[in-house]
Amino acid sequence: MSGRFTCRSCRRTFPLNTLLWQCPCGSPFSIETGSGFEPRRVDRRTSTIWRYRAAIPGPAGKNIVTLGEGGTPLVEVELGKRRVPIKQEQLMPTGSFKDRGASALVSHMKGSGIRQAVIDSSGNAAASVAAYSAAAGIACDVFIPYRTPAGKCAQIRAYGANLHQVRGTREETARAARKAAGHSFYASHYWHPLFIQGVKTIAYEIFEQLGGRAPDAIVLPCGNGTLVLGAYLGFQDLATARLIPRLPRIIAVQSVACAPLYRAYQRFSRRAPWRPTRAEGIAIAEPIRAEEIIAAVRETRGSVIAVTEREIARALRLTADRGFFIEPTAATAVAGLIRYLPGSRKKEVVVSVFTGHGLKTALKIAGIMDG
Ligand SMILES: *Cc1c(COP(=O)(O)O)cnc(C)c1O
Ligand SMILES: [Zn+2]
Repeated sequence: MSGRFTCRSCRRTFPLNTLLWQCPCGSPFSIETGSGFEPRRVDRRTSTIWRYRAAIPGPAGKNIVTLGEGGTPLVEVELGKRRVPIKQEQLMPTGSFKDRGASALVSHMKGSGIRQAVIDSSGNAAASVAAYSAAAGIACDVFIPYRTPAGKCAQIRAYGANLHQVRGTREETARAARKAAGHSFYASHYWHPLFIQGVKTIAYEIFEQLGGRAPDAIVLPCGNGTLVLGAYLGFQDLATARLIPRLPRIIAVQSVACAPLYRAYQRFSRRAPWRPTRAEGIAIAEPIRAEEIIAAVRETRGSVIAVTEREIARALRLTADRGFFIEPTAATAVAGLIRYLPGSRKKEVVVSVFTGHGLKTALKIAGIMDG
């Protein structure tokens, strides 16, 4: 599918194969794709995200880099007296939903002849881009904060990426990566709009798995917002195609320890300092797409919830009690559900996502369970 990079601030557009990672005005790019989802163009021979290749801009044919991502089960999990269908994204090839975005982005990179890439992340996005880069024969430099759990570091190194652990904040890590990217391609999952174009397939799958309907609400952990914005775009495509009457309410969940989106949503004026959190995967102090995320939440009449460290620990235990092993960041969604469900209508269809596998942070989880 074709498309162009567009800037929401200054309205300039660029071709998809530009090497720019941000608009010259400083804003992140989006991609306007038009109709998006057409049921008759779904490729029923595959259950990967490439089932929806007609809706993903850019890569085609031999340039598609796939490891079997997508097609995750939607399993009902008992919470309170409700049974909530939860998308099992921890079962992805690298253990997180980021594989949807990485498969789309790295396929685009391969198609553009890129041989070398740089990424910064708190762990899972880097692991994912490193895995797909390995599969595509692209060399990868990864910048992560020093405190990233050892399991995630080991995974990134196993894929052959060059790992740089930065002694500093998440934002300093990003700056170090961008400096290094001066000589190669900045494959940032939150700056590059193709990543979100891959993630949006989660909405198409949920629609198909619910039997051709959208949920009334979807509860999602949120840091940089690639999952929230991906789900939003996917459901928007379905609404544009008149397959669903309205968008599901988006309930974005943050950690109280680092909650810039919660504060923006509540229109708090002062910025708050942030503290370390068990949910390191969503500890993003300055999300670059904050405005877009808040706009998506408001348009769907959703909300932003902030949960405490105790609520995260409790959610993690409760999830393990049901037989699921997810990482603490992923447990924030369950903590969000525990807050959201009591105030919702009984008949409301609420869906959520397990975003990352527990095995990546097994020791950290052991610490929480013992504590
Ligand atoms: C990346 C990630 C998130 C949050 O995604 P954003 O795009 O940063 O909002 C949630 N859970 C896990 C396990 C992640 O890796
Ligand atoms: Zn611009």
